[in-house]
Amino acid sequence: MIIQKTDIAILGAGASGLFLASFLNEKDYILIDHSQIPLKIKASGGGKCNFTNEFVSSENYIGNKKLIAKVLDNFSNRYVLEFFKNIKYKKIKNNQYFASSSNEIIKKIDKKKFLAEILSVEKDGNFIVHTSKGDIKAKKVVIATGGISYKKLGATDIGYQIAKYFGHTVIALTPALVGLSLQKEQFWMKKLSGVSLRVKIKVGNKTFFDDVLFSHRGITGPVILNSSLYWKKGKIKCDFLPEVKIKKSNKTISNALPLPKRFILEFLKAHNFQDLPISQSNQALKMLQNYEFAPAGNFGFDKAEVTKGGISTDELENLESKFVKDLFFIGEIVNVTGELGGYNFQWCFSSAKYVADNINKRNNKKYVTDK
Ligand SMILES: Cc1cc2nc3c(=O)[nH]c(=O)nc-3n(C[C@H](O)[C@H](O)[C@H](O)COP(=O)(O)OP(=O)(O)OC[C@H]3O[C@@H](n4cnc5c(N)ncnc54)[C@H](O)[C@@H]3O)c2cc1C
Repeated sequence: MIIQKTDIAILGAGASGLFLASFLNEKDYILIDHSQIPLKIKASGGGKCNFTNEFVSSENYIGNKKLIAKVLDNFSNRYVLEFFKNIKYKKIKNNQYFASSSNEIIKKIDKKKFLAEILSVEKDGNFIVHTSKGDIKAKKVVIATGGISYKKLGATDIGYQIAKYFGHTVIALTPALVGLSLQKEQFWMKKLSGVSLRVKIKVGNKTFFDDVLFSHRGITGPVILNSSLYWKKGKIKCDFLPEVKIKKSNKTISNALPLPKRFILEFLKAHNFQDLPISQSNQALKMLQNYEFAPAGNFGFDKAEVTKGGISTDELENLESKFVKDLFFIGEIVNVTGELGGYNFQWCFSSAKYVADNINKRNNKKYVTDK
């Protein structure tokens, strides 16, 4: 039974859905979500939401670079900072912008929601959105239901199901920005739970320089989360001494190197090296600088900050379906995935603004130049 009619049904009131609504006329849309609170924004950045970065380009993303560049260019990190200028935020290491609290971001973009489970969408002239509380008739539908990682924060695969129903291809979904599990040869790292150190990792054509954190499950920390985005089976190369100038001395390797003692002792033991003076430890030093290993896998969707893969951009024109007019996709559901550092929220905001401009232009509404 049709219980409401609207011009635009926005499916999902997370980062991209709420941001889109910020550029539409309140009476033109209905925001549908099963959660009152945008839980991923709330949890993001350890509760402080890393909402953008000082340097953003298509190179920070996996996906269709041309489309990404166009969408980012229309609403760049500068516009995001301008939009949030009234909240407290600061730039920290690696040029990431963090809010003083995620609640500040939420307060700025939160809107009234129609609280219901989204079940399916059909099109018979207009769209009919079936929800647990009845049907909503809409002229346009924007799918902003996000990825499937972190189910406990409200994620479902409904957006992908709807996309498939309308003939879209969903590029294989895999966990990304996630910890990596280890093969037997690297189990020595599991004994280092809680230890962290700065390393350089080369994975494919990408090099990342940041902290690794050892855990009982495997390895995590920012450098590993970023590496997980580009890792597709096979070896990664790790330099455990990226900034260290090795000085000649009579000290043993465990005393001479500025590495956590637990780490170096475990490393030596695992590779049958003795704790000899640094001048006699060339082989161990070489291995520390060029440590190659193949992770076993990753910690899975439950621990992944994002879902890699999604709606094929080949089947979208300006983020609108090439198959079904007035059906749009924004945010993480699109086959665009950013690195760690605020790039995923930036994509959500830019893609939402891109579609807002498109819809406002079509409806001849004034928000179009109001970036
Ligand atoms: C722990 C964690 C920390 C993160 N930290 C950062 C960070 O600091 N910086 C960064 O850039 N990115 C971060 N991310 C990634 C970022 O949160 C996501 O990329 C972003 O939220 C995606 O926005 P979205 O609008 O596409 O989807 P979401 O924000 O996930 O919104 C989707 C909405 O759809 C709703 N929904 C889903 N299914 C249904 C259904 N069947 N019925 C009704 N409603 C439904 C959900 O309740 C949700 O509100 C983090 C992610 C996690 C999990």
